[in-house]
Amino acid sequence: MSYQALYRVWRPQRFEDIAGQQAITQTLKNALVQNKTSHAYLFTGPRGTGKTSAAKIFAKAINCTHSQDGEPCNECDLCQSITQGKLGDVIEIDAASNNGVEEIRDIRDKANYAPTQADYKVYIIDEVHMLSMGAFNALLKTLEEPPANVIFILATTEPHKIPLTIISRTQRFDFRRISPQDIVERMRYILTQKEVDYAEDALQTIAKAAEGGMRDALSILDQALSFSEGALQTEDAMRITGSITQELLEGYIEALYSHETEKGLNILHALIAEGKDPSRFVEDMILFSRDLLLYQTSQADTLLKMAKADDGFAELAEQVPAALLYEVIQVFNETQQEMRLSNHAEVYLEVATVRLTQARAAVQTASTAPSSGGADDQVQEVAALKKQLAEMQKLMQNVTANQGTAKPAPQKAKRSSSSKSVFKVNKTSVHRVLENATRQDLSQLKDVWPDLMNVLEASQKAIMNTSTPVAASPQGLVVTFDYDILCERATNDTILLDAIGEYLEKVIGHRAEMISVPAEQWPIVRQEFIKQMKEDSTSAEDNQEAAAPDPKEDQIVSEAFKLFGESFVQVKE
Ligand SMILES: [Zn+2]
Repeated sequence: MSYQALYRVWRPQRFEDIAGQQAITQTLKNALVQNKTSHAYLFTGPRGTGKTSAAKIFAKAINCTHSQDGEPCNECDLCQSITQGKLGDVIEIDAASNNGVEEIRDIRDKANYAPTQADYKVYIIDEVHMLSMGAFNALLKTLEEPPANVIFILATTEPHKIPLTIISRTQRFDFRRISPQDIVERMRYILTQKEVDYAEDALQTIAKAAEGGMRDALSILDQALSFSEGALQTEDAMRITGSITQELLEGYIEALYSHETEKGLNILHALIAEGKDPSRFVEDMILFSRDLLLYQTSQADTLLKMAKADDGFAELAEQVPAALLYEVIQVFNETQQEMRLSNHAEVYLEVATVRLTQARAAVQTASTAPSSGGADDQVQEVAALKKQLAEMQKLMQNVTANQGTAKPAPQKAKRSSSSKSVFKVNKTSVHRVLENATRQDLSQLKDVWPDLMNVLEASQKAIMNTSTPVAASPQGLVVTFDYDILCERATNDTILLDAIGEYLEKVIGHRAEMISVPAEQWPIVRQEFIKQMKEDSTSAEDNQEAAAPDPKEDQIVSEAFKLFGESFVQVKE
C-alpha cells in the first residue's frame, strides 16, 4: 500500500473531530437536528482550519439516515461513498482549476435535476474566490433561485475577493486559526493511536510553526516522523520547522535581489495559501533581514554558531547588498503599520513585494557608490554599515514595541494616519469621461475586464486586482480601486497604462485613457458631476439618454449600489 499523508488518513469524519471550531460545528449540528439548514453556506478561514472537512461531514450528516445529534454514522452506504468521494450527489469542485463560466453554467443546469441517491445534492466549491466574474454571475443566478434539495457550500481563504451579492445570499461561518493547544492535542491523539513515542516539546514546536493550520501541522509531523527513528524527537521537529521557513525566506530575498517580481509574488502567495499569517510573515522577514545584516557586519565565525547560518544563508549574506536588506526592513516596517489599519493584509504585502523587487535604483546607488579600493574604503564602508545598523536597530525597537500590543505608540499612530495622504483625483479627466459616458461602453469594458487580468504581468495584476470599471466613454474610462496606494501606482505606472491601452485597442478596437479613482471617493466625485450637470443646464432632461442619469433613477441606482456593491449592479433600460 502506498504511503498516505497523515492529514488524509486522519481527516475528521465527525464534527466532533474538527479541532478548534466548536462554535461552528455546534451551530451546524443544531441546524441539522432542527431541520433548519440553509441552501448556501460560506466557510471562510485560513487553510487547514477544517472548512472542507466540515463541508464533507455536513454533506454526510444531512443525507445519512442514521445520523445522531447532527453527526453522520459514517457506516451506512451513503456515508461511506461520500467519504470515498464516489457519491454522484455530492460534488466537489476546485474553483482553482474549474474557474470558467461554462463549468458553473453546467452546475446551474445540473443542479435543477433532483438528487438520484441521496436526499440532498451538495455542491462543495473550494477556493471559490478563484471564480471569474462571469462564473460568479452565473453562480449568483443559481443562488437567487435555489433549486429544491440542493445545498451549496462555498469555501475560501480569501472572502474579500467574493462579491457581496454572493456573500449576502449565504450563511457565513468564519473558521479561526486553531490554537496551539488544540493542534498539540490532535497530534497527541494521532501519535497515541499510531503507537509512536514523542517528546512533548516536539509537538509544541510543530504546533507553533503550523500557525493555526492543522493541515500544516500534520504535514510537518509527517516529515519529522520520516526523519526520526522510532520516537519523535524535539531536534527533528526543529530541523524541519526551521528549514521550511528559512528556505522560503531565502527564496523571497533572492527574488527581491534578482528583481524577479513574479517569483517574489509566487512565494508570497504560496505562503499565504499555506496559511501563513501575513503579519507573522512581515515579522519573520524583518528578523531574517536583520540576521543577514548582522552576519554581514560581524565576525563570521561567531555567527556560524547561529543555527540559521547554513550554506544557503551564508551565500545569501554574501550576495545581497546591505542597502537592499535595509530597505526590506524599512518597507516591511511601513507595511506593518498599514496592515494594522486594514483587513486586506495580502494586498499590502503584494505592493511591498512589487516595490522591493523594483527597487533597482536604491540598490544600484548603494552598490555603485564611489570606491577606489583600499583599506580606507573598507573603514568607511564599515562605518556606513554601522550607521545603518544603528538606524535599523531603532526601527527594530519600533517593531518590537508594536508587537503584541493592541495600541501602537500614540505618536506613531498619529503620524501614520496623517501621513496617509489622500489620493488626488483628476476631476477634469473624470468629468470629460462622464460627459460622454454611455452604458454600452461600460458594459463592453466590464465584459473584457476579467480577461485583462490574464494578459497582465504578475506585478501589474497585483495592482489591478481590486480595480473595477465604473464609467466609460468612447475615449476614456474611469476605474475605481479599493486602495489609495494601488490607485496611485496605477496612475503613475506608464508601462502598466500602456499595457492596458494596448489590450483595449486589441479587444475593443480603440485605446481609451484610464482614469483611476479610489473607490471611497467615487460616489462623491460622481455626485459632484451630476450636481454640476444640473446647474449647467436646466434642460438636462432633453439630453440625458447617454450621459447624465436621471436623478430619480440615479437615487435608485445608488441605493442598489449600497446594497449590492457597485460592480454587481447592472442598470437595465
Ligand atoms: Zn450514515
